[in-house]
Amino acid sequence: MIKAVKGFRDILPQEMPLWRKVEEEARRLFEAFGYSELRIPVLEKTELFKRSLGDTSDIVEKEMYTFRDKGGESVTMRPEATASMARAYLEHALYHSDPVGKYFFFGPMFRHERPQAGRLRQFHQLNVEAFGYVSPSLDTEVISLLDTLYERLGIRHLTTLEINSLGCRECRPRFRESLVEFLERVKDLLCPDCQRRRERNPLRVLDCKEESCQEVLRDAPHISRHLCQDCRQYQKETLAYLDALGVEYLTNPRLVRGLDYYTRTVFELTTTHLGAQNAVAAGGRYDDLLKQIGDKDIPGVGFAVGVERTVLLLEKKGDWTRGTPFHCYLALLGEEAIKEGFKLALALRKKGVRLEMNHQPKSLKAQLRRADKIKAPLAIILGEDELARGTLIVRNMKEGSQEERPLGDLEGLARYIKKEVEF
Ligand code: ATP
Ligand code: MG
Repeated sequence: MIKAVKGFRDILPQEMPLWRKVEEEARRLFEAFGYSELRIPVLEKTELFKRSLGDTSDIVEKEMYTFRDKGGESVTMRPEATASMARAYLEHALYHSDPVGKYFFFGPMFRHERPQAGRLRQFHQLNVEAFGYVSPSLDTEVISLLDTLYERLGIRHLTTLEINSLGCRECRPRFRESLVEFLERVKDLLCPDCQRRRERNPLRVLDCKEESCQEVLRDAPHISRHLCQDCRQYQKETLAYLDALGVEYLTNPRLVRGLDYYTRTVFELTTTHLGAQNAVAAGGRYDDLLKQIGDKDIPGVGFAVGVERTVLLLEKKGDWTRGTPFHCYLALLGEEAIKEGFKLALALRKKGVRLEMNHQPKSLKAQLRRADKIKAPLAIILGEDELARGTLIVRNMKEGSQEERPLGDLEGLARYIKKEVEF
């Protein structure tokens, strides 16, 4: 038996209704907020992620699926979407036709991590990116989109929205300096990972999940005290807009993101309901990213939703949706009936009836058991006797009542089914 690759999982039909609920709600909202779908490829040049995420990010340091293709080029299976979306935006010069480019994407991402509940090697994200301008109201629109999505899914109350500002090219270096000084003083108390981060990427220490580090970091300097006047004002306006919209949030001065490209606004939707995994969605502003990728000074802001974790939250809430129900089962007895039945099935299916038909030499009883099993509310029975009379039988599965109808009256039959099963 060949099994699936570790960390790569199948999403089974019984799981799909919740997945579709998330996906369909998201698509509807993204479009309502003015975003258009942009599909990016799975493979990118490795350089794209190295340059954008930063050499010292966890993803680039240890999580990427990178290999040389047959031509010897180093390629990487996308670990996230923002860099690819930015690349596509620049490569096709979409900024010419669309100075404010708002795009969304849904698809799998790949990271070589230790698999556990809510953490996979292939997982799915819903992404939203708005390229083109810097404005607290755009940041607010993006954040309120995330807020609205979880509200519409009925799980916003299971999450907390945390917000922070990471400053800009001007003020972040000053904060970094004071953080480095602090970390130098407490270095012996930090975990081995943080010892390394301290030298290579000190901001990332703030994001460490080790309790002992979090303890030490309680006295760490806050970025809020180092923000320049512009960044301070920017944050103030963003929060005021969020207040005006009634979006609930917490400012968390310790919130940083694992990737290099963020500037100013960063946010995360966290939960205490998923064990070790506490982030369901995350995002922020990235005003330097496009310059790093394509030498164009175009700012952006966006977020990524972890779909597996969102579906887990829906399950936690006790949500379930039945898969698409069957409307009808077609029981056929005899060669001639199967031939005639095929035509009938096709005609009804074209009219949107979700119908399953029999393909095997089975007794009527066995066929009706199957109709029960797939929970079809109606069964159509067509055997030699009915054929000879030019009729068919429609059986109401719940009540056990039956009605004989003319075989040729397809329109009438379709209307009858629609009325009976209300679709
Ligand atoms: P974490 O801290 O849990 O590793 P992250 O900061 O690496 O998350 P992001 O890069 O911000 O995650 O991705 C956005 C969202 O994608 C996360 O909030 C999470 O819901 C989801 N996600 C990230 N990595 C995984 C994974 N390996 N498996 C499942 N979902 C993931
Ligand atoms: Mg991670």
